[in-house]
Amino acid sequence: MTLAPDTVNHQVRLAARPSGTPGPESWDHTSEPVGEPADGRFVVHISHISLDPAMRGWMNAGRSYIAPVEIGDVMRAGAAGEIVASQHPDFPVGQHVTGTFGVQSYAESDGRGVVRVDAGVAPLSTFLGTLGMTGLTAYFGLFDVGALKDGETVVVSGAAGAVGNAVGQLAKIKGCRVIGIAGGPQKCKWLVDELGFDAAIDYREGNINKSIRAAAPDGVDVFFDNVGGEILDAGLARLRRGGRVVLCGAISQYNAEGGMTGPANYMSLLVNRARMEGFVVFDYASRYGEAVTEMAGWLAEGRLTSHDHVVRGSVADFPDTLLQLFRGENTGKLVLQIAD
Ligand code: NAP
Repeated sequence: MTLAPDTVNHQVRLAARPSGTPGPESWDHTSEPVGEPADGRFVVHISHISLDPAMRGWMNAGRSYIAPVEIGDVMRAGAAGEIVASQHPDFPVGQHVTGTFGVQSYAESDGRGVVRVDAGVAPLSTFLGTLGMTGLTAYFGLFDVGALKDGETVVVSGAAGAVGNAVGQLAKIKGCRVIGIAGGPQKCKWLVDELGFDAAIDYREGNINKSIRAAAPDGVDVFFDNVGGEILDAGLARLRRGGRVVLCGAISQYNAEGGMTGPANYMSLLVNRARMEGFVVFDYASRYGEAVTEMAGWLAEGRLTSHDHVVRGSVADFPDTLLQLFRGENTGKLVLQIAD
């Protein structure tokens, strides 16, 4: 199969490093023709782009766990799509794949870091969420970093988001008492009524410390933190002896113009012989297969459900869709499905 000669790749590139919330000046919209792949390469038509809070960090200069996106580069993004032209024996036309394809409508690849997925098993959006990066983050963060034991008490912040809702569901599978922290009554109701959380706390209402104490009177064994700031402090304050704080992310701090604020209650780690440990899911790449197999089994059994918040639009809608994460507009995994 050959590509139509007028096939156009629409792209979003980083135009300037933002200070605070990224506005339209942070982005350039470009387009260029798509060529036939060279020997050993293939072209993917991207249908789903993953929106991740980490993207905000990738826009900054400086040392991190991954190199920054350079000014002028296509914005880095996880994505899913179908191979439409191929000179690679292991990646035939028609195969669905996920990979770090970027914010664009077509990507060329040699197959490194690309995962073949079966679109018959789950929608492609799920391979960016529960069976993709965010599900894997929940799995390794909870079971490895959090060293979760059956029946423990778990509190998760950002609970109605992609990572958070998976964390809560996985902890329920292990027979834990699960308390979610999320923004707004609707999300809290969803966590309890639909996902089976034992309790949910709306952090926009009242005193989080008091609410955690009421929901977990004997304290917290694992606090899985996606949010940072005051919510992290509240979690630290309620740790049990030997508790673990899983430092997954700090979305409340990503757009802070005056720099990030650290926790005040860190001495709780000493008092409770507890630990707080950060992790990066990419370090578990050699074990992704085992985790996906186990989670796909739970999905098939109905013990785990995938919640994909799919926004339909074009590649050009990426900048505003990204901001939905920071406005708390998503429930579950936020994915941009490309209509063009
Ligand atoms: P997400 O939770 O689906 O979306 C972000 C959510 O954060 C929003 O829906 C919003 O929910 C909440 N939020 C936004 N601003 C907030 C604020 N100021 N205070 C409190 N909550 C706020 O995103 P995700 O992809 O699952 O990522 C969750 C976290 O995991 C992020 O911190 C991300 O960086 C981290 N992460 C880490 C790794 C790793 O390897 N360590 C990998 C993936 C993701 P509400 O409506 O509830 O406010």
